[in-house]
Amino acid sequence: MEIINRRKRMMSLARKLRREENRTIGLVATMGALHEGHLSLIHEARAICDVVVVSIFVNPAQFGPNEDFESYPRDLTADAATLAEYNVDYVFAPTVEEIYPRGFSTYVLVEGLSDALEGASRPGHFRGVATVVAILLNAVRPNFAFFGQKDAQQSIIIKQMVRDLAFDTEIVVLPIVREQSGLAMSSRNAYLDAEQRQAATVLNRALTQARSAYDEGEHNSGRLIDLVRSSIEAQPLARVDYVSINDAATLKKLDKLDERPALLSLAVFFGKTRLIDNIVLGAAKKEDAAGANA
Ligand code: AMP
Repeated sequence: MEIINRRKRMMSLARKLRREENRTIGLVATMGALHEGHLSLIHEARAICDVVVVSIFVNPAQFGPNEDFESYPRDLTADAATLAEYNVDYVFAPTVEEIYPRGFSTYVLVEGLSDALEGASRPGHFRGVATVVAILLNAVRPNFAFFGQKDAQQSIIIKQMVRDLAFDTEIVVLPIVREQSGLAMSSRNAYLDAEQRQAATVLNRALTQARSAYDEGEHNSGRLIDLVRSSIEAQPLARVDYVSINDAATLKKLDKLDERPALLSLAVFFGKTRLIDNIVLGAAKKEDAAGANA
């Protein structure tokens, strides 16, 4: 396994692998502090690609001024050891200056989709995400790039960007990996103390209750949202940012659920830590698994 810090080195290597050696490249883009959610993406990349590249980059452009860019967990040594065990070929771990050199001034904005949900709570977040993913796709030239349903809106936005800007990459979205307790794996779970971690299991329980109500015929968004909210609000350590039901493809708010898949998503604070989670309601069996344990 080679650790690459330079964008130029990454680009020349990718050119050689893809053009000269005709090997398929899979990219898993991460911010490090790796957990089993990331590893599930790497596992799939390993299964379908000849060469697996994992990027580790805590992207300043996607953090707001009062967010956790400085304190975000970073441990490249531990991450590299994990990735070597998983037979990853290359780790692309550039510095901030390498990605955003002096004079950098071009940003990617996926209009519309970036305004809802996470975008409403975190202005500018998806501009930062789309920009860095565009740079990573250009540097790594992957045939496939793997993203998690955990960040459902991000996956939708990346797919739209790839379509609109004609990137030669297929986006693969994989199910949410959860702890035994139901808590969705996240690097930010490291911020939680024991009590908050226990309290945060309410999120998956609330989503699961909504799925049961939906399966029993409750297709009114307002009532499903109320159900989720009231479960979460019964937990004193939780402070709801939003609970929302949106079309799973267009992210338009839905009042009533019909046969189209609907994304039930939420963001909730436990102390200063903001966690997100979601399930898809009304999806065909395969997509439905995106919200289930994996
Ligand atoms: P991050 O390092 O948080 O930026 O995440 C990198 C990638 O891993 C993104 O595509 C995430 O959606 C995905 N990911 C993060 N947590 C999970 C999880 N619990 N299950 C599946 N994928 C995840």
